[in-house]
This record gives sequence, structure tokens and C-alpha cells, in this order.
Amino acid sequence: MVNLSWVNDEIESLKASGRYIPIRVLQSSQGAWVKIDGKNMLNMCSNNYLGLANHPEVKKAAIEAIENFGVGAGAVRSIAGTDEIHRKLEEKLAKFKHMDDSLVYQGGLLANLGTIPVLVGKEDTIFSEELNHASIIDGTRLSSAKRYVFKHMDVADLEKQLKEHRNEGKRALVITDGVFSMDGDIAPLKEIAEVKERYDAMCYVDDAHGEGVLGKNGRGIVDHFSLAGKVEIEMGTFSKALGSMGGFVAGDSNLIDLLRQRARPFLFSSALNPGDAAAVLKSIEIMERDDSLIKKLWKNSDALKKGLVENGFKLTTTKTPITPVVIGNEKATVEFSKALYENENIFASPIVYPTVAMGTARIRLMPSAVHSEDDIKKAVDAFIKTGKKLKIIG
Ligand SMILES: *Cc1c(COP(=O)(O)O)cnc(C)c1O
Repeated sequence: MVNLSWVNDEIESLKASGRYIPIRVLQSSQGAWVKIDGKNMLNMCSNNYLGLANHPEVKKAAIEAIENFGVGAGAVRSIAGTDEIHRKLEEKLAKFKHMDDSLVYQGGLLANLGTIPVLVGKEDTIFSEELNHASIIDGTRLSSAKRYVFKHMDVADLEKQLKEHRNEGKRALVITDGVFSMDGDIAPLKEIAEVKERYDAMCYVDDAHGEGVLGKNGRGIVDHFSLAGKVEIEMGTFSKALGSMGGFVAGDSNLIDLLRQRARPFLFSSALNPGDAAAVLKSIEIMERDDSLIKKLWKNSDALKKGLVENGFKLTTTKTPITPVVIGNEKATVEFSKALYENENIFASPIVYPTVAMGTARIRLMPSAVHSEDDIKKAVDAFIKTGKKLKIIG
């Protein structure tokens, strides 16, 4: 056996710099409260925005699909893994997003890894937002396209880079998160869509945190800014507001057709399970018929932010329910989260470098539609108590 002591060295170095993430094990379903270590904890860090991960109708739809189609798709999509339910979901998503067609993947990360290299290759260029999600960065690497990074929320910088570098490649792709998951701010997509048009570049938006949150009935960022027909590719995930798992891209029908021939997760990894596809289909139906969950999500998030800011906590410039409380120092943030966990029965994970820049460590709170008014109040009260004790607020 080869000596593996380097593994231990790496783990120790993570621990020494306060960057070793403890992995909590949940003993219950997702919800406002979860059971961890045998204790009931107020859950403030899941992406289950609308509570659909444990919604009775969604669960029933998944169970029925399992009865009809079994638990596994049995093959990759291109051989024998495309079930009726996959196509039904793709048609539903396309309509929901006001696009021609869509393609379902096994995850949002895979949607980015699979799609970006089909859109651009080594003779092309990508203009990528500085704070884009890791899966976009990896998809960009896989594409071999030349990458230029533009500054966060800075359309003037995007234009400058397009002006300087657009002619270095054949095709060009401007790519951005819709909602930035660590800060909660919203990309200026209207302005981005205007600029990319002038430079003949395609636009790709990752709406993982916009679906179920922004736009009419949670249609996402493109609907939020009324940009239907102005953005070439909308990518999304089923693992956040939609409550299940999987991912998709929506766009022009020819483009989706090409993805079915080329996207590697479509060709070389087995299809999304039928139960997950059915769950997502039901989640979208619920969102379409009734926006009360979305309204409740925003109401809770407004109350949470107000309570924190009024008591001296510093938030990012968030414009969405994502509520990052910036502590700054990495170790202090980990300590704050630990105190919430141990003394207040609040589950809220610390987010530290390299997920966010050094010195901007934070506790990211994720309110949801299934939190009660009392739950939100409990979270605020616990922050005040812990903040005073650890001298984060006066
Ligand atoms: C969560 C997330 C993904 C990955 O989605 P999964 O379905 O969980 O793989 C991709 N992009 C962004 C911006 C995300 O927040």
C-alpha cells in the first residue's frame, strides 16, 4: 500500500484554518424542524424554499410513479432510459418557462457540466460572472472555451470585456447565476441581455435560486424581468424550491435537440428516476395553481431580515429570501453557528472561504414557506442572544 499520510495532513490543515465542515446527519424529513442527534432543531439552512420536499401531494405523485415505472430508469436517456414521464416533464417545463423545449438532467450541476460544452468549444469564448456557481466554472473548464471573468453585478465591465475579446472566438456565451446563492442578490439580467445582443453573444442564466422564488408563480428570473425571448438558455434545478432532485435547461427546440445528441450526462449517465420526475411535475402543478406558498416564503423572509437588521446584524445586499448574516472572521462564524446549534437548537451552517471570499464568512439563513411566524421569531431571538454573548452585536 502506498503511504496516504498526505490525506491526514490535508484534513488537519482544513481543521486548523476553521474550514473543516462538520457533516450533520438528519434523522427526519426536510421541514421547518428537523431531527439531528436525537434533538429537534429549527432548520434554517435548507433550500426547500416552498416545503415541497415533503408535501403530501408531491410524495403521492412520486409513489404513484414508482408503482407505474419502478424505482430506476434502467438506462441512459439515449438508449432505453427515457420514460413518458421525462418527456411530460420536459414539455411542462418548457411551457412554464415560455421556451420551445427543455431537457431534463439528473441534477443542476450536471445540467451545467453537460450543456456548456455543447454551446461553446475551444474556438469560442465565455464571459462568466465572477461569483458564478462552481458547476458553471467546471462546465466552462470542460468546454475548453477561452474564459473572461466580468465583475460581480457589473454590466459595464461585461461590455468592456466583450468589446476587447468578443472577436477572439467564433461563438460567444455570456453566463451568469440569476440569484447569487451566497449573497442573495439578483443579476441585472435585463441589462446583460441588452449588452450580449449588441455583441452577438448567447446568454445563459442559471436560475437555481430563482425558481419558485421570483416571477409569476415562481417562473424564475426571466419572467421576473419580463425577458421571455431575450435569453437563449435558462438552466434550473429541481433540488431547491421544487423539492426533489434533477436539473434542466430550456431553450430553442433545435438547441435542445442538439443537446440530446451531444450532452454527455444525457448520453453517458443513467436517466433521472421516474419518481423524481413525477415529483417535480407535481411541484410545478402546485406552483401554477396557487402562489400562496411563494407569498408566505417572502413574508417570512421579510420578517427575518427586518428582525436581524433592527438588532444590528449586517446582511449582504440580498434581494431574495436568502439571508446571509455576515460575521466576517472564519473562526468566529463557525463558533457562532456552533453556539446556535448547541444552545439554541438552531441548525444554521457557517459559510466560509473558499465558498465565499476570505474575511466575509457568514451564516446563511434560508427561511421557507413552511416556517411559522414563531419559528422566524425564535431564530431572530436566538441570533440576538448569541450575538450579544459573542460580542458580534452591542
Ligand atoms: C444548487 C445549485 C446548482 C446545482 O444544482 P443541483 O441540482 O443541486 O446539482 C447549480 N447552480 C446553482 C447556482 C446552484 O445554486
